[in-house]
Amino acid sequence: MSDLRKDPTRGHWVLVRPAGEAPPASGDCPFCPGSESRTPPEIVAYRKDGSAPDGPGWSVRVVPEIDPYFSVEREVGRVGVGLYDKVPPRGATELIIEGPEHDLTPARMDEARWEQVLWMYRDRLRDLKKDPAIRDILITRRYKKPGSRITHPYSRVVAVPVIFDDVRRQLIQCREYYEYKRRCVFCDIIRQEVADEERVIRLTPHFVALVPYAARSPYEAWILPRQHACAFEQALTPDAAADLAALLRGHFRTLASLPGDPSFEMVLYTAPNQAAKLLPGEWSSIAEDFHWHLEITPSPDRLSQIGGIHVNDLPPEEAARRLREAWA
Ligand SMILES: [Zn+2]
Ligand SMILES: [Zn+2]
Repeated sequence: MSDLRKDPTRGHWVLVRPAGEAPPASGDCPFCPGSESRTPPEIVAYRKDGSAPDGPGWSVRVVPEIDPYFSVEREVGRVGVGLYDKVPPRGATELIIEGPEHDLTPARMDEARWEQVLWMYRDRLRDLKKDPAIRDILITRRYKKPGSRITHPYSRVVAVPVIFDDVRRQLIQCREYYEYKRRCVFCDIIRQEVADEERVIRLTPHFVALVPYAARSPYEAWILPRQHACAFEQALTPDAAADLAALLRGHFRTLASLPGDPSFEMVLYTAPNQAAKLLPGEWSSIAEDFHWHLEITPSPDRLSQIGGIHVNDLPPEEAARRLREAWA
């Protein structure tokens, strides 16, 4: 039986999860068209020809993860164990299968496909946020994850009954900045970076792609919507989706052209589920103080740290210059 446990000295959550039976590795891929019966029943799929669920004919398909970290069957609620806190891992772990083609990579996915994937991100966020037991949802896209058993292109959706530690740190920073300046920190970053240009990789009508001032690793990039909004799933418009799809495609193609075609992780940061406040008023200014965005970290398994301080051997200004040149 797994638990989410809180370390009271650091405030971190830890998922204690006894290792399950790994599904046997078999030759053919369960996510390719024709193998739909080998996954759990689909949650949703885009099917333009009206084909039946759990058969071929889909362009993007969402299924529960076979060995989930979090699942909807768990009961809700925080439990005290002496001085400690624990929470049952109630939530959801889903895979968004990005297309029928097994060998597609983020760099080779065309704009139309990226657009469909972005709409599916929106649909899953909206649907999962209807569950008041879910407080936070992260969507991640890994490329070349070491040891991954899944080789078909997919994004992972993880919905949890707490706020992710990484997200909570960011939410608190954003709120403190807002309380002090009455402005959104990301809006201020966009204004300054667009004026400076030095760390900007690409500017489009709706987005700016930049290397952050304190990038944790070489070629880390953020994609920030130029229009303030706290939640991706509320803010996505057809124009913005087309613009973002083209930007992602270009950025991933640029990354793939770097020496060694580096692995990466993309994370979508959107506001937590405001229907699930445990503490009334906890995130009362979130609509003004938080700004949804994407963070893309190349080689996430090789981040170098000393006591939690990241060490980056490529100055962000130089990384941005190289990425701009590689785009061209
Ligand atoms: Zn496949
Ligand atoms: Zn903003």
